[in-house]
Amino acid sequence: MNDLLPKQSATWQYLERAIADVLARYSYREIRFPILEQTELFKRAVGEVTDIVEKEMYSFDDRNGDSLSLRPEGTAGCVRACTENGLLHNQTQRLWYTGPMFRHERPQKGRLRQFHQIGVEAFGIDGPDIDAELLLITARLWKTLKIDHAVTLQINSLGTSEDRATYRAALVDYLRARHDQLDADSQRRLESNPMRILDSKNPETQALLNDAPSLKDFINGESRDHFEQLCAVLDAANIAYEINPRLVRGLDYYSKTVFEWVTTNLGAQGTVCAGGRYDGLVEQLGGKPCPGVGFAMGIERLVLLLDELGVVPDSVGQTVDLYLVAVGNVEQQALVLADNLRSDCANIRLECHCGGGSFKSQIKKADKSGASIALILGEDEAAAGTIGVKYLREDTPQETLAQADLAKLLLAQN
Ligand code: ATP
Ligand code: MG
Repeated sequence: MNDLLPKQSATWQYLERAIADVLARYSYREIRFPILEQTELFKRAVGEVTDIVEKEMYSFDDRNGDSLSLRPEGTAGCVRACTENGLLHNQTQRLWYTGPMFRHERPQKGRLRQFHQIGVEAFGIDGPDIDAELLLITARLWKTLKIDHAVTLQINSLGTSEDRATYRAALVDYLRARHDQLDADSQRRLESNPMRILDSKNPETQALLNDAPSLKDFINGESRDHFEQLCAVLDAANIAYEINPRLVRGLDYYSKTVFEWVTTNLGAQGTVCAGGRYDGLVEQLGGKPCPGVGFAMGIERLVLLLDELGVVPDSVGQTVDLYLVAVGNVEQQALVLADNLRSDCANIRLECHCGGGSFKSQIKKADKSGASIALILGEDEAAAGTIGVKYLREDTPQETLAQADLAKLLLAQN
């Protein structure tokens, strides 16, 4: 569980704002819900035999003896909140949320125990148009962030749960006959969650799967049409994608469309965004049947990618435009002058020196702050109602102005 230090938080804010802006342009609204839920909710939503529920949740009994868990993902809580508040009855919802998620995994690059996601969910629309819209949103976001050249889209269709049950049986038959050639992990999954074997990282297992029955031969006509229409929109919108028949995703609730945006720039943890359709989930959690589709982006991984590609604008790290140097017995005037400037010039970011010290040490701090201008207030300036203006990043000579003219100068420069 990482601390996020001020040096990194600017990039996080830049990313979060960019995402919020794009989502607002598509008319998605923010929803907030607790980071703790009944453990039962996640068991029912994510699935009893998934890695998350079997071994990754932070669960505990509260003082009433109820089992609660820190949320390992957002969709379950989002569905619970929407159902409880009547947001899904005879209406559509386009929603997003952000915040920490918790999974007791092995920590490594791009994999933490407290990590952060921005999740997007759309409810009440069962056609492929909304699946496509979600992919348009993500594609636009990658362009906005200038990382579109570094991510690729993989999509697949999982069909309905009936399709998957038939397929699962065929897959298990095939793999059972080759039980000895599977690694221990896949042997275990063969009993608990055989479809997860499809995304095994073991090359021998992958080779074995080449001749295995393929899910796409098992999905019904409606799912197939849905998938083809989705592909048609992506083609028309010029969004490149790869159909990956082995993409199955780790959570049980998906049906029909599933997708991942992956990058090769981050090593093994290359999925920066993942999601899919989950038409049965709302009902499974006790609501009236309501189709849903959504995705989640991993903020840490996106930040790593932004840094790796060097695409965060320089201005993002810069937090202050002006630094007010206050030398001598002028603290009071300095604070009031600074505050008046903030009133007059709404857009400036101004740090007012506090705590005294020599001119030299304050100028050093001004330089280190990244400000482009140091405003200098000494006892002489304070008495005369003037202020020194020293340009820290350009070759313009220092000047002295009446304090009353300062706002005008700053506004003209902005
Ligand atoms: P992975 O296969 O990479 O573990 P996942 O299928 O478990 O991903 P999801 O549950 O779909 O992931 O979560 C969506 C996104 O959240 C992932 O694509 C990833 O960017 C991010 N994510 C998931 N788990 C972690 C983690 N432990 N640390 C950091 N980011 C994570
Ligand atoms: Mg995972």
